[in-house]
Amino acid sequence: MEQLLRDEIRDYVLESPDNRFPGSDARYFDEPLIGFAAARDPLFSQFITVIGGYHLTPAEIMENCYGAVLGEAVTVICWVLPITRSTREGNRRQERTPSREWAFTRAHGEQFNTFLRMFVVDLLRQYGIQAVAPLLSGMWSPVREEPSGLSSTWSERHAAYVAGLGTFSLNDGLITEKGIAHRCGSVITDTPIPPTPRREGADHRGNCLYFSQGSCGLCIQRCPVGAISWQGHDKEKCREYVYGELRATVGQSYGIMETGCGLCQTRVPCEACIPPGTGQKKGEGQVSLC
Ligand code: SF4
Ligand code: SF4
Repeated sequence: MEQLLRDEIRDYVLESPDNRFPGSDARYFDEPLIGFAAARDPLFSQFITVIGGYHLTPAEIMENCYGAVLGEAVTVICWVLPITRSTREGNRRQERTPSREWAFTRAHGEQFNTFLRMFVVDLLRQYGIQAVAPLLSGMWSPVREEPSGLSSTWSERHAAYVAGLGTFSLNDGLITEKGIAHRCGSVITDTPIPPTPRREGADHRGNCLYFSQGSCGLCIQRCPVGAISWQGHDKEKCREYVYGELRATVGQSYGIMETGCGLCQTRVPCEACIPPGTGQKKGEGQVSLC
């Protein structure tokens, strides 16, 4: 089942006409990274403390979908959809607003990500396997509550972390082997698949140059509204800009509501790889683009 899922998800991403810019053969996303987490991984329970009591476990979502008897959560299938080089390069040139390609990837590319969630659920159900996508389960909702402030009842990024696909960053992203410029997705299922190992002993922020060696901070300079500092990411300030000013300006001109921004995810060392130098001692590394 693991290989079948890897092949089917990869082929769907590479071949689907929905993963294409309008009127073009150019894709929103490149070949995905795919990982698997054990639904009983203790990290999912820890998120209740780290993120908030409202964050759901895989077991709660499965049980809500299938009932207490049939709804056994065993595996969480996770993927990362890397944004293409051409789109990243376009956004690198931007200083204040996202490029049209970036904004289309945020809006229509995320719509494709929804289709991918539905595809994976349907595929598993064809094999008689129970499956539910947390974001399509009816249980997902945004939350504004301490200790995390703006968050939600299920974090695709946190699930991808459990599935060994990356680690967190100063600007609140997930730095994977294909970098930080991506979208994530997940599906919970009752089929057993060996969990993807996380790097042994690795820090949960180890791929970020700031946390691994105290250097970089280029995402701070990239943010046009000062929403990132050495203390981290100000989600409220970021949201105000992205869902307020950007929606009213570039959103209007591009004809979409969800433009994203992503300036702090492009023209930075973690844009498309784990930055060289992470894992070194503080002060030893160099800052360069990959
Ligand atoms: S730009 Fe540098 S400090 Fe910011 S998230 Fe990337 S690696 Fe970390
Ligand atoms: S996405 Fe948010 S934090 Fe990143 S550059 Fe844009 S406004 Fe700043």
